[in-house]
Amino acid sequence: MLSFPRKLLNELPAVRESIRIQRVSPNILPMRPATRVQFWGTRGSLARPGRRTLRYGGNTSCVQLRSPAGSLVIIDCGTGAHDLGQALLANATGPMRGSILISHTHWDHIQGFPFFAPLFVRGGQWDIYGPSGLGQSLRDTLAGQMQYTYFPVTLDELGASVRFHDLVEGSFEIDDIQITTRYLNHPVLTLGYRLEMDGTCIVYACDHEPYFRKPGQRAPVNERDRHHSEFLANADLVIHDAQLTDAEYGGKKGWGHSPVEYASEVGQMAGVKQMAFTHHDPMRTDDALDQILESVRTDLMAKKSSMQVFAAADSQIVELRNSSSTHRAGLNERSFTVSAAAPALQDSTVIMGIADTRLAVVLAEATRTEGVRMSHASEGNSVLQMAKSYPPALVLMEDQLPGLDGLSVCKRLRSDRDEHLQNVPVVIVAEHEKTDEGTAAGVTSWLIKPFSVQYARAHIQAWILRSACRWARAPLPPEENARLAALRELAILDTPPEERFDRITRVAAALADVPIALVSLVDQDRQWFKSCYGLDLNETSRELAFCAHVVFSRKSMIVPDTLQDDRFADNPLVIGGPRIRFYAGFPVFHDDGSCLGTLCLIDTRPRQFPDATLQLFGDLACLAEQELNSETRHTAA
Ligand SMILES: [Zn+2]
Ligand SMILES: [Zn+2]
Repeated sequence: MLSFPRKLLNELPAVRESIRIQRVSPNILPMRPATRVQFWGTRGSLARPGRRTLRYGGNTSCVQLRSPAGSLVIIDCGTGAHDLGQALLANATGPMRGSILISHTHWDHIQGFPFFAPLFVRGGQWDIYGPSGLGQSLRDTLAGQMQYTYFPVTLDELGASVRFHDLVEGSFEIDDIQITTRYLNHPVLTLGYRLEMDGTCIVYACDHEPYFRKPGQRAPVNERDRHHSEFLANADLVIHDAQLTDAEYGGKKGWGHSPVEYASEVGQMAGVKQMAFTHHDPMRTDDALDQILESVRTDLMAKKSSMQVFAAADSQIVELRNSSSTHRAGLNERSFTVSAAAPALQDSTVIMGIADTRLAVVLAEATRTEGVRMSHASEGNSVLQMAKSYPPALVLMEDQLPGLDGLSVCKRLRSDRDEHLQNVPVVIVAEHEKTDEGTAAGVTSWLIKPFSVQYARAHIQAWILRSACRWARAPLPPEENARLAALRELAILDTPPEERFDRITRVAAALADVPIALVSLVDQDRQWFKSCYGLDLNETSRELAFCAHVVFSRKSMIVPDTLQDDRFADNPLVIGGPRIRFYAGFPVFHDDGSCLGTLCLIDTRPRQFPDATLQLFGDLACLAEQELNSETRHTAA
């Protein structure tokens, strides 16, 4: 059974009553195009599909990168390259152009190369880069696995025009991307790649093992390991070998792979912002990976490190924007020192202009996060003075402030001589969004009351980092009061489970082969489950509820992959338990036409269903709807 995190709304019941939920403007900041990284293969050594690797995936190494100017770079061509090739072709509008960086020619990094379909398309142009060994050239090694003994098409018969480039340590450019290469510590010649573009930096360091590591040793002490850490300096994202744990490393020295603890330590030394652990051991189950990640995160928290870590998963997308000084302390300036870490949230100041004391309590709680300072004022002029005397990372204020209202404070900040104040994110807390006035005043975004601590915290962190929080609450439907009255009239909320509903969720889960199926009813502040198959819980807050989106739209909603959906990618039910990756919700209506909730299906892996099957799920939702309405019909009769 899976379990949901307890809802945070319960932490402050007195406050919850006073603050009603509406919506936040989805568009947060005027943003430049992002650098987009997508993982297509994260397994090391051997492809390992199967039930125990569903969430993180079974394909071997392959990462896709799209620069803000649109350049396409692929790093390594393990079995993940097959899916990537198919996805590229599906979206192609003409002959394709791209570059492939190969770290080394072990099978798990090149096996997908002959299956990368765009190479067979006439008119395509591909540049392949990789380390030049002592013996064969990169081209010869790749041609080797495409001899007739192994594969029906030889390298000379590819449709696209392909150029090969043998690399050594150094720097070169691909369009708008500056690339620096560095040899890694692996049994064959292997290159790490540092890619810098538009103020963001991504390092790919796989496969690699420590130059020196004793059992029980914590921080890297060897000069060459420091040198490796320097290669990662201040990167926005490092994709690092983490195949092993320290406990396993003793027996696997010389295999060329890193313990996760080592990866984390060199990342911290280097002031890395985000680290993706990859090259997962083929024997590592999803649950075991979760546990390893948990222990690294606990360790980072104990050390008050601001480095974010995650275990890379097939299909996962990471977007990076030029938001900080990351690249300025790059390799060329040789300015790296151990203490040069530039934590993202640490030492930021949030100025809160909030007169309502209960609201101030909620926002203070939401702002309380690692290293963030908070200055509070209850009057507009004081907010202005504070902002001028100490540059804030975020200004968060009510629209109705005594002295000077929120929009006027914002206008003054935007016309200040200080460039920082002209650009600082300003968020207005209000009952309703005044879009036109806000845009005119230079407001960055709106936080619409009411909201939970959890919701505000996720968004405040994103505003400080000047990124988008990919978690949007469903708006309230226009007929909300009548809808709630219809729901209450059924007198079904908080009643015990009943077989007439449980048999529907059971059949739905079996039909779809999903672990979770629910009959969910959307109440004022929560969704409550009349029937829950595969979930050890009977309600969640409404802010988290996917089903609330269905209730708003009154239409079925299919989310094939939550990580690729801006409304859900950062939802706590996606990034934490039960790790929703696929969702399909079908509305159930009251006889009076109000939308009460859904029959919904949930999976922990991305899914697609043909329309005919979706129709069957819709039929099951109709059965649940009949059961819900049967009580009132009997009464009416
Ligand atoms: Zn490998
Ligand atoms: Zn290798």
